[in-house]
Formats: sequence, C-alpha cells, structure tokens
Amino acid sequence: DYEPVADIALIGLAVMGQNLILNMNDHDFVVCAYNRTTSKVDDFLQNEAKNTKVVGAHSLKEMVAKLKKPRRVMMLVKAGEAVDNFIDQLVPLLEPGDIIIDGGNSEYQDSNRRCKDLKEKGILFVGSGVSGGEEGARYGPSLMPGGNPDAWPHIKNIFQSIAAKADGEPCCDWVGDGGAGHFVKMVHNGIEYGDMQLICEAYSLLKDALRMNQEEMSKVFDDWNRGELDSFLIEISRNILKFKENGDYLLEKIRDSAGQKGTGKWTAIASLEYGIPVTLIGESVYARCLSSLKDERVSACKLLDGPTSKFEGDKEEFVEHIRKALYASKIVSYAQGFMLLREAAKVFNWNLNYGGIALMWRGGCIIRSVFLGNIKKAFEKNPELTNLLLDDFFRDAIHKCQTSWRIVVSEAARLGVPIPAFYTALAFYDGYRSSRLPANLIQAQRDYFGAHTYELNDKPGVFIHTNWTGTG
Ligand code: NAP
Repeated sequence: DYEPVADIALIGLAVMGQNLILNMNDHDFVVCAYNRTTSKVDDFLQNEAKNTKVVGAHSLKEMVAKLKKPRRVMMLVKAGEAVDNFIDQLVPLLEPGDIIIDGGNSEYQDSNRRCKDLKEKGILFVGSGVSGGEEGARYGPSLMPGGNPDAWPHIKNIFQSIAAKADGEPCCDWVGDGGAGHFVKMVHNGIEYGDMQLICEAYSLLKDALRMNQEEMSKVFDDWNRGELDSFLIEISRNILKFKENGDYLLEKIRDSAGQKGTGKWTAIASLEYGIPVTLIGESVYARCLSSLKDERVSACKLLDGPTSKFEGDKEEFVEHIRKALYASKIVSYAQGFMLLREAAKVFNWNLNYGGIALMWRGGCIIRSVFLGNIKKAFEKNPELTNLLLDDFFRDAIHKCQTSWRIVVSEAARLGVPIPAFYTALAFYDGYRSSRLPANLIQAQRDYFGAHTYELNDKPGVFIHTNWTGTG
C-alpha cells in the first residue's frame, strides 16, 4: 500500500521523459517515474532527480497506486507498439475517468483509434505533440494536446505550466478531438522540413551563385535574424556557418546527404490523401531523398552538363532578393500547412483553433519564430480565413517580395542552382492566383482517351461526352 502522492506519472525515462519530469518538478508537481527497464528508475532517482520531489515505481501497479485521482499517466516512449503495450497493461489498473497521455511522435491515425477504444472503456486518452527536443522538454516545450476533451480540465494546469511562453502566453492549448494533437504535431514537423529546406536553398544561392565564404554567409544570416525572418532555425544556421573545429569550418566537411525519421513524409502522404497541394513540404521531403542519392549524384555530375554562366549582378542587392524570396516562400509553406489542417478538420470534424495553433508554434518548438506571431494575428482578426495568402498582412508581404522572388528563381534556373522549394512556392502562388488553369485540356484528354466526360464552364455539374474522333 502506497500513499497517493503524485500528481502525474511519467513512463519512459529516455531524454524526453527525464527532462519533462524535471520540468514538472520545477513547477511543483509531484511526478512518479517509471520505465520498462526498471534499473533506469533507480539511476534517475539517484542522479538527475536527486534532491527533487520525484518518486519512482518499479511496477505499473506501484506507479498507479502512487497517483492522486483522477490518475494521470503520461508516456514518452518509442511510438508504435510500445504505446499499445503500455495501454493494454494500464487499462486493468485504472478506473473510469483516469487519463492516459501519449506524448511521443505517434501517428495521428493511431491516436484516433486509441482515443476511441479507450473512450469505450471510460478512460480519457490524450495524444499530445511535444516539440523542442531535449532543451524544450527541460525548460519549456511546445505542447499540442488533443484527444478526449474531458481530460483537458485535469491536465491543463500541468501542461500550461511546463510549456514554453511566448509574449506571456503558454505555447500550449487544447487542439481538438481524437488524433488532432498528433496531426498538428505532424504538420509542425512537415513545416520544419520546409523551413530547413528553404534555408538550405538560400545557403546554396549564397555559396554557389554568389560565391560567399562562411563568415560572409554567417553575417547574412545574422542580419536576417534581426528582421522578418527572425527564427530559431535562422539563428542556429548562423551559428553553424561560423562554427570552427581545430581552425576549420565544420560545415564544409559534413556529408551532403540528409536522413529523415518520417514525419515530413507523413505530412506529404496526408496531403496526397486529402488532396491538398502542400507542395513545398513535399519538395522538401524529395530534396532529402535526392540528397541521399549521393553516389549516384557523384557519377551523374561527370556526365550531365549544366549552364556555365556566372552571376554578374550586384551581390548585395541579390542577397536582399534572396531574403525576400525566402520570406515569400515561407509564407506559401505555412499557407499550405494551414490548408492541410483546415481540410483534416473537415474530414475528422475537428474544431481547430488556427490562431491557437500558431501560438503553440510561436515558442518552444523548432519552427518558433516572430513570423508565427503574425499568423496568430491573422487568424485572430479572422478565424474563418480560408487562406493565409488572403490576409492583408501576408498579401502585402508577398506583393512586396514577388519581384525579388521571380528574379531569384529565374537567376537560379539560369545558373543551374537547384532550389526546388523556392520554385514550387512560386509556382503554387501563380497557380493559386489563377482564375483559369490549363485543366480544361486535362478534362478533354481524359474524355478523349477514356470517355471520362467533362463539364463546361457555364454548365458545372453537367457531364458531357464527345466522340472526339468520330466523323459526326
Ligand atoms: P526513444 O529513444 O524514442 O524511446 C526510448 C524509451 O521508450 C525508453 O523509455 C524505452 O524503454 C521505451 N521503449 C522502447 N521500446 C519499448 C517497448 N517495446 N516497450 C516498452 N518501452 C519501450 O526516447 P525519446 O527520444 O525520449 O523520445 C520519446 C518519444 O518522444 C518518442 O516517441 C519520440 O519520437 C518523441 N519525441 C522525441 C523528441 C526528441 O528530441 N528526442 C522530440 C519530440 C518527440 P527502455 O529504457 O526499457 O528501453
């Protein structure tokens, strides 16, 4: 028999779990720590958690007995099977009204399923995105909880206390039902892929088109970080560019082949699934795929020619064009991300608060930036906004940037510098603002070869078939 002393239990004592526990402890919550390999519980209590109020448990039964009611159990374990295994073991130990929170990088469809299954058993499930890595977990992550809304009043205080703060507000709010929290986290990660790719393309232009050295590039990023592009990723890129090891720049020595864990790919898959053109994130995933074909590229480079032209314009002026092109492309990327959120909300009947989501991303997480404050304002002004591009602030911003954007894209094409995310963002912008696209020809082609029928401009909803090859 144990005293129910703990406010919350945390399962999973790897990097994320340990740091979240210490963060909760800092905010005066009593946490009960548990891990599958129970020796890690003792290690943690004797080392990192020494002189804290954290208590430990060597079995799930002991852990549950140490919890105040309604019991709150949070997992930070490897996504997938481990989560289902723990749920299966926990359910017989819990009572209706108790709460299970999954803070791992789970797939939103899994969270939809778990939420539904647990609801039938009276257990309140929460699937929460957690972003910000180790540092965020320790001192203030961005938290994106969704699931059974009855759980929210019982976890709100803990979650909002430990979350990052931006402009005095916690970067954590209730996202929506079922897998909404994990869906939003997935889109966050997709946007992170897009932001990283855009920065890499800007770096490529500075390096390969303008032939700048690392010190100069670092200075450019430092300047950018003082304006509209002020963000965590620009800041760390500045630091990476100037980082030296034994007198040499480290970045130049790093292999140009990027890996991925899959959340960017999931966002791209969801975009295809729901038919939303999230082209920039898609390109970013493909850009990583192309980068990892390193050996093939090294062979191809000997056989495939490109242009021999050199940049001949004003360097300083072109740097400013790149900055504007990056900013405009970034606006398109976020507009596309929010389009996907809007569509998923329709499909799953989620009532998403888009301004709240922007605020959750404003601080604590990898994509944190000043820019997200502008997005929050846009949705505050108009919660029904169909597309970020239509908001006055962003529309004006794109209008101010578009000449530069077009100069950069055409110059990159002329010089043969690959910047797929910049290209696709501009192509999307031009497509989105077109009242007439060439899809009339697609309709005609489909009817020609497959009798798929077509509609006429003045008769939408009426499907016609023509015998295109008949003599009449
Ligand atoms: P992790 O390396 O993803 O997972 C290790 C933890 O999972 C350990 O506690 C381990 O227990 C447990 N585990 C693994 N397989 C298990 C199984 N089959 N049954 C039971 N337990 C199992 O840890 P992490 O990096 O701290 O991440 C935790 C979660 O947060 C993951 O879903 C991750 O994707 C997500 N996340 C990570 C970050 C990050 O920056 N690292 C950021 C945001 C979200 P044992 O000690 O017994 O092996």
